[in-house]
Amino acid sequence: MKLNRRQFLGSAAAAAAVTSPIPAALAAVQQKNVDLIIIGGGLAGLAAANAAVNKGVKPLVLEKLQFLGGAGLFPEGSLGVNTRYQKEHGIKTTVQQVLDAALQYHHFRCDPAVLRVLIEESERTINEIQDMGVEFRGIRTMYGPEESLMTWHLFVGGAAEVIKRFVDNIKARGGELLTQTTAQKLIVENDTVCGVEAVNAKGDKLLIRAKKVIIATGGFAANKEMLAQHVFDSSALGMVEPIWLRGPVVDGRTGDGIKMAQLVGAGVAGMHTVAGNAPYLPDVPPINQFSGPDELKQGRCALAQPWLWVDHTGRRFFNESRGSVFVDVYNAMTSAGGVLYTIFDQQKMDQMVQKGAVLPFNAIVLAGVPLKALPKTWEIGMERGWAFKADTIEELAQQIGVPPENLVDTMKKVNKYAEDGVDPDFGRKKEHLVKFDMQKGPYYALKGIRAFFLTLGGVTVTPNFEAKNPQGDVIRNLYVVGQDIGGLYDSSYDLRCEGSASSFAMTSGRVAAEHAIKQIEEGK
Ligand SMILES: Cc1cc2nc3c(=O)[nH]c(=O)nc-3n(C[C@H](O)[C@H](O)[C@H](O)COP(=O)(O)OP(=O)(O)OC[C@H]3O[C@@H](n4cnc5c(N)ncnc54)[C@H](O)[C@@H]3O)c2cc1C
Repeated sequence: MKLNRRQFLGSAAAAAAVTSPIPAALAAVQQKNVDLIIIGGGLAGLAAANAAVNKGVKPLVLEKLQFLGGAGLFPEGSLGVNTRYQKEHGIKTTVQQVLDAALQYHHFRCDPAVLRVLIEESERTINEIQDMGVEFRGIRTMYGPEESLMTWHLFVGGAAEVIKRFVDNIKARGGELLTQTTAQKLIVENDTVCGVEAVNAKGDKLLIRAKKVIIATGGFAANKEMLAQHVFDSSALGMVEPIWLRGPVVDGRTGDGIKMAQLVGAGVAGMHTVAGNAPYLPDVPPINQFSGPDELKQGRCALAQPWLWVDHTGRRFFNESRGSVFVDVYNAMTSAGGVLYTIFDQQKMDQMVQKGAVLPFNAIVLAGVPLKALPKTWEIGMERGWAFKADTIEELAQQIGVPPENLVDTMKKVNKYAEDGVDPDFGRKKEHLVKFDMQKGPYYALKGIRAFFLTLGGVTVTPNFEAKNPQGDVIRNLYVVGQDIGGLYDSSYDLRCEGSASSFAMTSGRVAAEHAIKQIEEGK
């Protein structure tokens, strides 16, 4: 049914909701009835829609951007526990091990029942991805073998390949995907969610009634006001550099779903928590170091090598051997003022160019692959103010702005540790303890800042991903999935459960959709 604007404005209930920038005479109102509406066409929303069409239900997906996938176009891989692929590769990690690691990491300040479902169901999530024809390129880790739970399944083509298969399946089975269509608010009658108001690119208002609504809008990483309000790290005093968002250049994650849910009474938890990923070069946009040209990816890799790391005072603050454990680095940098400098000499520069890094950068630049693009990295980095080269240590210190006497002192100390083969301050591995020639340059430095890629706080949910109010009661007909969920993280992302964000997004989407459909079938 299609109403013209005049008829629509005649409806008192709808009048307040009109915010269209389109000239009044051109905008129209469309009304629709569906069983299931999904707000957000990213990883969690598409996983939900995929599960729905597999159950014979044709959902309506609203995506505000011109393209589908959201941040879900970027993951290299996802967490799975007990998967077929792990069994084939002799990996015996159990659900209990992963759950225990998560609970301990979060000091038990998280919802164990929801986490258990996400970890247990990850087996099916990963197996089904494989059944859809996505190939795996291994299980990788940021940790040493003794520490890793070996959960991170890397997809050939990344999660973008998974998104593509979801979209193909949804379309083939009659699901409806509307891009450039922004959900604006939930329709509520008798304390029950019963639909969504949205606006499309033409400015038309969509009034969609639905039996069940799933919110999957990806959190609020791209909403500066919400970050300033909730995330301490973004506004802490005494920081030399702020946190930078390593997100898509066009980023729809502006907290819409969380705000819509709150307006109908949902509770929130963990709003202060972000997934930090550091160090990154202060180059705009940071995402180019993740998926851009080699000189930036390799520069990011060189930045996190276990040579010498100092803070803005020229002193060490971290065990450089753990340079690939990006969340630990983010947290340590937050305590140390928000900036680091990686210092090394010509011998290390030559080693990286000819033999490669000793620590990987995610699964993007692997250890042992020659960093041939580093000369270009320096060319652009010196111009842009984050790569440095000097003949003397004092000159390098001046370039990076740390007290020269502190840097000299730190280097002398580390030289002694290299001679002894022991780092009594931070426990850097013996093989990473290198001695500098204090008299002979050149010396190099790269500047690192803190980046984050996700917000981790949001709406509190049941193990079926139904939204809860602050008292724990279910808000009828409303589900919340992916990065809009809160209460799973204490203060930062849990990298022991590698690949959990994308895995939790897909699993929560599927479980929510299947639960919603079952409820519909049972007339609830
Ligand atoms: C660079 C990068 C690398 C990553 N790598 C990994 C990795 O290796 N492993 C891992 O586990 N995770 C990784 N992640 C995290 C992973 O991408 C997220 O966990 C996942 O995408 C979350 O899914 P989501 O559906 O909640 O959000 P998204 O995938 O971001 O989707 C949300 C969608 O909702 C849309 N939307 C927002 N508001 C509205 C509205 N009002 N109406 C309609 N649509 C709306 C947005 O435009 C967006 O398309 C990475 C993320 C980034 C940015």
